[in-house]
Amino acid sequence: MSPIKPPSTRYPDLADPQAQPRFSGISTFFRTPYTQDLSQTDIGLIGVPYDGGVTNRSGARHGPRAVREQSSLLRRFNGATGVMPFADARVRDLGDCWIEQPFALDSAHAEIESFFRTVVTAGVTPVSVGGDHSVSLPILRAVAATRPVGMIHIDAHADTGDDYLGSRFHHGAPFRRAVEEGLLDPVRVIQIGIRGTVNDPDMWGFSTQSGMRVLPMDEFQDKGWAYAAAEARRVVGSGPVYLTYDIDSLDPAQAPGTGTPEAGGITAIEALRLLRALQGLDFVGADLVEVAPGFDPGTITAFNGASLLYEILCLITQAWKARRS
Ligand code: MN
Ligand code: MN
Repeated sequence: MSPIKPPSTRYPDLADPQAQPRFSGISTFFRTPYTQDLSQTDIGLIGVPYDGGVTNRSGARHGPRAVREQSSLLRRFNGATGVMPFADARVRDLGDCWIEQPFALDSAHAEIESFFRTVVTAGVTPVSVGGDHSVSLPILRAVAATRPVGMIHIDAHADTGDDYLGSRFHHGAPFRRAVEEGLLDPVRVIQIGIRGTVNDPDMWGFSTQSGMRVLPMDEFQDKGWAYAAAEARRVVGSGPVYLTYDIDSLDPAQAPGTGTPEAGGITAIEALRLLRALQGLDFVGADLVEVAPGFDPGTITAFNGASLLYEILCLITQAWKARRS
């Protein structure tokens, strides 16, 4: 069957989806080819449209679509670091890890874990977009199945809470569970940007009790993104590390589209520079979570999220290349 419109002879470069006009085509993450063929994939971009673990304003299940849409604005060359992720690795959009039982949280998490186990077992490095932050736990169950990993966690909340209204697996508790399950080495975990009001003064006590480095927002503002990056590098060291980015770490002025905003956060440029300063670490997977388009006038949150995801993809690409060489 021949295509309706043959490849362009006038502009041969347009055979590369990265070169096609940004406004055209079907939305995939960064205009990457959509496939479910893991043998043709090095780095898999995956949507996880699940927000059954949200404790307050829901809507992050719509995050993957919104980030895909805004990610078409990003280009193939990272002007700050020189990384060209789509030239260096086979980066593919693997579609969504959609959930057959979205109203049964434990079942949904088991489905997510199963999906990511298939991806990881095939040797593909996953970069996901949620979804609420509860999805990081089943992803870690796959990524850290064979050994505990370190983690760089950027968020307004430490997400190391416990039982809430009868569930231990909501989006405020994934990293306590991950430590208990032996997925995270807590002394190789740093949490950056923590702030806001709490109902219990010891709500995030597990973080420090287990040995995590907590770098609250006040310290971040006093000492800056470069200090935070140096601390992250010191804490996680040279071993395998997972990166989890909660969009509510950004200031609500630059990321209003999220379920649990907290005033006085990280700016987009600080977040971009913090991520760029993490080059060279052995990242084995990453996610961006909590983009809720229903609260996102002007799509600024999804756009900033896509821009951060691009930096994260560059870090993952560099780590993937380093492991291969
Ligand atoms: Mn979170
Ligand atoms: Mn958060």
